Amino acid sequence: MAWFRNLIQVSAIRALIKPRNTHPPLSLYTSLTHFSTDPTTHQTPPTNPIQYSGLPPTKSNEKPRVVVLGSGWAGCRLMKGIDTEIYDVVCVSPRNHMVFTPLLASTCVGTLEFRSVAEPIGRIQPAISRAPGSYFFLAHSTGLDTDNHVVDCRTVTDEANTLDPWNFKISYDKLIIALGAQALTFGIRGVTENAIFLREVSHAQEIRRKLLLNLMLSDVPGISEEEKRRLLHCVVVGGGPTGVEFSGELSDFIIRDVHQRYAHVKDYIHVTLIEANEILSSFDDRLRRYATKQLTKSGVHLVRGIVKDVQPQKIILNDGTEVPYGLLVWSTGVGPSPFVKSLELPKSPEGRIGVDEWLRVPSAQDVFSIGDCSGFLESTGRPTLPALAQVAEREGKYLANLLNKIGKAGGGRANTAKDMELGDPFVYKHLGSMATIGRYKALVDLRQSKEGKGLSMAGFVSWFIWRSAYLTRVISWRNRFYVAINWATTFVFGRDISRI
Ligand SMILES: Cc1cc2nc3c(=O)[nH]c(=O)nc-3n(C[C@H](O)[C@H](O)[C@H](O)COP(=O)(O)OP(=O)(O)OC[C@H]3O[C@@H](n4cnc5c(N)ncnc54)[C@H](O)[C@@H]3O)c2cc1C
Repeated sequence: MAWFRNLIQVSAIRALIKPRNTHPPLSLYTSLTHFSTDPTTHQTPPTNPIQYSGLPPTKSNEKPRVVVLGSGWAGCRLMKGIDTEIYDVVCVSPRNHMVFTPLLASTCVGTLEFRSVAEPIGRIQPAISRAPGSYFFLAHSTGLDTDNHVVDCRTVTDEANTLDPWNFKISYDKLIIALGAQALTFGIRGVTENAIFLREVSHAQEIRRKLLLNLMLSDVPGISEEEKRRLLHCVVVGGGPTGVEFSGELSDFIIRDVHQRYAHVKDYIHVTLIEANEILSSFDDRLRRYATKQLTKSGVHLVRGIVKDVQPQKIILNDGTEVPYGLLVWSTGVGPSPFVKSLELPKSPEGRIGVDEWLRVPSAQDVFSIGDCSGFLESTGRPTLPALAQVAEREGKYLANLLNKIGKAGGGRANTAKDMELGDPFVYKHLGSMATIGRYKALVDLRQSKEGKGLSMAGFVSWFIWRSAYLTRVISWRNRFYVAINWATTFVFGRDISRI
């Protein structure tokens, strides 16, 4: 792998001396080790050998390579469980960390700090930082050639304005597609341009900065009453768990922190939650009613309506109502990303990557898919599982064990596990749902399905269970410590309101 390290060094030096906004010179590409038909590799030779930079097929003296696309719940749980004595692991993702999404809403108002919910991949799977054949590549996967076992990638250079992105390829022995999903906008005009989605740490940062900016601007002399009301109107669209949790966090922030520290504008700030149907529709009826009552008590204005159009300063509902806003957060569910849609792989009825009971993509050798981007093929007769961390995490764990088993049985290399007996298929058992609603209250619904029977409760005890459960679920001891300290600091001193 010395050639690859040399490539990184050469690229870094070239990047430093290169003029702004230029591609790596062509000579750099051609001087790299290329993919070629190599007699020592175990893979079927590419039907059409191409010359390009990247990771060539593994050789007999190397470990088989598992390539993981995505660093979310599914991909990270898989990487954590994979046996790095058997495999080298290569992760390709536009972010070098996993986001602990259930606590993301708390970072938007400063209850938690951003780093407390971001887990670096090198901590989840240390081999990625240390093992000579394992890597993390900051890149998007852009294409897939399942016949030749090759993934196309494009680097992410968003903030390095001296460098343009470039393409490279990675050969895999086993490929895990764990690309997640993207926010649904239902084609409503103006959503992408004007609303903020709450899916990444960068989104939470944007929300926090905008909220604090609006608070500060509305305190400056010269602003009209009407403009002040608009700037401080926070609108959340989507009454699922994420929208409700975010509204609860916002109302807590307003009651405790804005009233103390922005006393001049405290009567202007409001939260409106817009939902087309019932809020928290997957929860028990009783819990839904409780949540509605509590949110209303905390000052959240619940509106039943369908958004028709989103303009820079107002949204328009189906019945013609105009809702001016200063902050708009959009959380109306998720669907497959354009890249997932574009992959020429079989699809589940919902348009996700279709898998069988062992999470394999049946038509492509050595390709598996897990998490929000995958769904059971119609032929399996199984329903599509909900887009939840607990599904993604358990699929990741199951697949890590399956790959370890395959590797131990000698099927780790490309095209060597075709007729292998895989054992028990993946089975999902729902453990229940939880959501906080602010003011030290939460909902805990332990029923296995909407129609099923089981324990469901709401209130302070549920809130305590919610916090304890998530504190134990946070991946590393470092972040567990951060979260506990953040909660304690917020409780004693209030939230941090500095706009950094
Ligand atoms: C705010 C919020 C709160 C939530 N709360 C809960 C909860 O309380 N309980 C629960 O069960 N679920 C919750 N969820 C849902 C849960 O987070 C998802 O179901 C889970 O993240 C799915 O995991 P995943 O690995 O499939 O996708 P993700 O975690 O979304 O990860 C996808 C990964 O793929 C990467 N990626 C995307 N495109 C490319 C590309 N082209 N190439 C390479 N990489 C790419 C992304 O950067 C990311 O690293 C919540 C979600 C959100 C947004």
